[in-house]
Formats: sequence, C-alpha cells, structure tokens
Amino acid sequence: VSGGTAPISKLGEFALIERARTLLGNESDPRVLVGIGDDTAALQPTQGKILLVTCDTQVEGTHFRRDRMSAHDLGRRAAAVNLSDIASMGGAPTFALVSLSLPPDFPLSDFDDLFRGIGDQFRAFSAKVVGGNLASTAGGLVLDITLLGEVAPNQILTRSGARPGDRICVTGSLGASAAGLRAIERFGEAAETFFPELVRAHRLPSPRVLEGQEIARSGIATAMIDVSDGLAADLLHLCDASRVGAVVHMERVPVCRELLPAAERLGESPEILALSGGEDYELLFTARAGPETDETLRQIADACGVALTIIGETVPKEEGTWIVHPDGRRTPLTAQGWNHFR
Ligand SMILES: [Mg+2]
Repeated sequence: VSGGTAPISKLGEFALIERARTLLGNESDPRVLVGIGDDTAALQPTQGKILLVTCDTQVEGTHFRRDRMSAHDLGRRAAAVNLSDIASMGGAPTFALVSLSLPPDFPLSDFDDLFRGIGDQFRAFSAKVVGGNLASTAGGLVLDITLLGEVAPNQILTRSGARPGDRICVTGSLGASAAGLRAIERFGEAAETFFPELVRAHRLPSPRVLEGQEIARSGIATAMIDVSDGLAADLLHLCDASRVGAVVHMERVPVCRELLPAAERLGESPEILALSGGEDYELLFTARAGPETDETLRQIADACGVALTIIGETVPKEEGTWIVHPDGRRTPLTAQGWNHFR
C-alpha cells in the first residue's frame, strides 16, 4: 500500500505495526534481545549504570494543531521533548516506547511521516524505538513516548544539588520558541519568512543531549533541569529542590538575533518571552564558582558548538529569588517573569 490520502483504517493493526517497524529502520543491537513485535521488548541493561525513565504526551488540540505542524515535525518534536529530559539528568538516551492513538481517517502518508520524524530524531542521538502500542480513537491524535536512558552513578545531575554561591548557567538562547509560536499564530505561513530562526526553534527544538553529558562528565555542575516551562519557572523549580535563592541578571540572559524585532512586531516584551516563554528545551544548570569552571564552560561550548552563558548566581534561600534589571533595579523573580508590583 502506498501512502497518499488513504486512511490508516485501510490497513489492520498488524500491518501498521510492521509498517512502523520498517519506517523506524532499526539496525540490530546486541542490547535488544527482543524488539518490536513481541509482547514486550527485552533489553540488556548496561552494568553499573543508573537507568533513567521519562515519558511525555502530545495531545492534538492541547499541545499542537495538525494544521500548524506537519506529522514529521510532530514526531521529531515529541521525541525531542523526551530527549531533553534525559539530557537534563546528564544521561545518554537508549530505548523508547511509542504509544499512539489515532483517528481511523488519519492519512497513511502522515502515519509514515510521523514515524519517520520519531525515527530521525531518536537516531540522531543513538536511541531506538523497541516497542509501543497503536490504538484507534474517536478523538484527536495522542502521541505518548516513554524514553529510557542511562548515566554513570557519579555523573547523574538532579535539580537538588545547588549550593549558595554557585553560578547559574544556561545553554543556547531563550524565548525563541515562544516567539516562534506567537509569530505562527499571528502571521501564519508568512511567519517562516519573517522569523525563520524563531519558527524553527518552535517546530524543531534541539535537545541538548551531548551538552548535558559533557556538563555532567566535567564535574563542575551541581544541579540541572531542562527549560520546558520557561527559564523563570524552571529556575524556581531548581531553587525549591535545592533550597537556595537566586539572582539573575536580565542583560546576561541570552536571546537570539530575531527575538527583539519579533517581540516589537508582536507587541510583546522580549524580556518576558525570554524568562517565561517556555518550550526552549535548553539546559539550565548550576556550577561551582571558580576559574576552572569558567575554563570548563568555554571548553564545553567549543566542543558542542553551543553558547554557555552565566546568567547569575545562587544565594542563601532566605535572600529570595531576584531579577536584576539593566538599570540596577531588583524585582522578585516569579514563574511569569517578575513581579511588577514590588
Ligand atoms: Mg524536564
């Protein structure tokens, strides 16, 4: 059966599973004792490593709209969101399960593109889909991915290891995904012409998998989280878990070149987009202060080709969480950015 506009209901469940298996194109792996097609996958764990497990659901109408995102981008994005969570622990992704509920009229060509997108994104980070489930639904598409990963016990990073006086660092730049989404909502297809970098950041986030492993391996980091809810909200999560406060310097928060002109055209605050836009999938981490940390940050940035920026420092919990504006004013950091009324 070729793709085209034929609905998936033309094929039975087993033919669809076989099709997904072919699209994912896994080469054989000695760690996979049983892969797609049996009752469960059977995997050989790596001796001495900690197993990481995460899952994430993409619901049509809640997390994406099918008229605004291609099936291939949706597949890549769903995989990327999970990869980002493994990255935030300093881990290497290994195996995934894909659970997919589809309306019967879902086009076979989109089914193919969805699995190509999932396979492409996982393959880029040496992760393999080893099983899952296909179901029919009367509602919209629901794509749920479970991803396993592994990390050496002395390299795992959690949200809770930061101490007062640590540097607060972030990979890449912030606010681009949120600005991209707002540009798509405002300008439709033209958004891609005006602000290609922002639209790309929204549709195809780059999970910082290699960066996360380098940061964990370097030994300088004390805590780490990936930025999914927004820099401010996720920093507050890290501070809560570590029982520390924080001071962030607004002018040090890295933003991409297109953010300022886009924010102006959209009538949005670039600072608020950068602090609370969300879905950046960058890594936010704390590192012990000192000259060796500065040098190590430079080395990791060079090796990975991604900016690593120190945006502030942690302080004792009772000193609170603050944003310092370019004019020197301090306002309390909140999940929405900052509190204007204090
Ligand atoms: Mg996370």
